[in-house]
Amino acid sequence: MEKFTVKDLNITYNGKNRKKVYAVDDISFELKAGESLGIIGESGSGKSTMIHSFLRLLPEKTAAVTGHAYFDDIDLLNCGEKELKDLRWKEIAVVFQKSMNSLSQIHKIGTQFEDIYRVHYPKARKQEMKEAICNLLEIVNLGPHVYQMYPFELSGGMQQRLNIALSLMFHPSLLIMDEATTALDVITQGQIMDEISEIEKRFSITRIMITHDLSVVASSCERILVIYAGRLVEYGKKEEILRKPLHPYTQGLIQSFPSLYGKKEQLKSIPGTLPDLSQTYQGCIFAPRCRYASERCFKIRPQQYILEGDHKVACHKYGEKKDE
Ligand code: SF4
Ligand code: MG
Repeated sequence: MEKFTVKDLNITYNGKNRKKVYAVDDISFELKAGESLGIIGESGSGKSTMIHSFLRLLPEKTAAVTGHAYFDDIDLLNCGEKELKDLRWKEIAVVFQKSMNSLSQIHKIGTQFEDIYRVHYPKARKQEMKEAICNLLEIVNLGPHVYQMYPFELSGGMQQRLNIALSLMFHPSLLIMDEATTALDVITQGQIMDEISEIEKRFSITRIMITHDLSVVASSCERILVIYAGRLVEYGKKEEILRKPLHPYTQGLIQSFPSLYGKKEQLKSIPGTLPDLSQTYQGCIFAPRCRYASERCFKIRPQQYILEGDHKVACHKYGEKKDE
């Protein structure tokens, strides 16, 4: 894969009482091969909905998805089932927080890994296959003894590490992680992310990850997408966003974290709560919580202004005043 492009993504749920919920609203971004993106935002802001849509995992009856998610020139949102299925696993791997247990509890881990390995490498020799699998286990900090064990003998965290190992088996072009390391202890999480970053460099893997932990984003992602109430509020290089966040929401999010660079500060939180997404909003959806909000902010929705490079920010403070 050369690039992954999300264009004009909109997702609406049909909620109770025929209410429409505008879960994702006009999101576009592009990643090149080998880049890593961390998506941040409060829970309920549409992050998981968005990445589930890339693999068409949302319930078709209730979720209406429009727009595009191009894996090179294949539009994942509109391609045939067969085409999508062929990309899963080998080209696109996914790990969720509570990974739908991809492994059976009653078969040995090694045997299951071998079976999956053989699907794509049917001619693999036993020894070579075993080595490859033990390498994978090592990446996620599990020893070779796990080969002979059953998943039920492992803790939840260890099973999650197996899922991460499985996702890396075929060096996918695109790796999608939704809070995949959240349940792990900090040290294991750090080690696994370091290993993943290494493998990504070697195989030019593009990663999109959701995590509520900004320090994971800071240490393992090159780009950041900040989402608020299903809308892109800021997008750009990690250094730019963490050191000099432009959008008032990003500023609040970063301030609400204990200091990433330098001394620990007290946790601040942004006053207010996420808006009701079954309402339509005329102006800036963050206005009720924004300390810079002016009358114009309540009336006119800010467009996404592109600043230096591809740093995008959706806030009137960075646009011209001519649309007033
Ligand atoms: Fe705040 Fe206005 Fe910018 Fe929205 S557009 S974030 S309300 S300053
Ligand atoms: Mg989520």
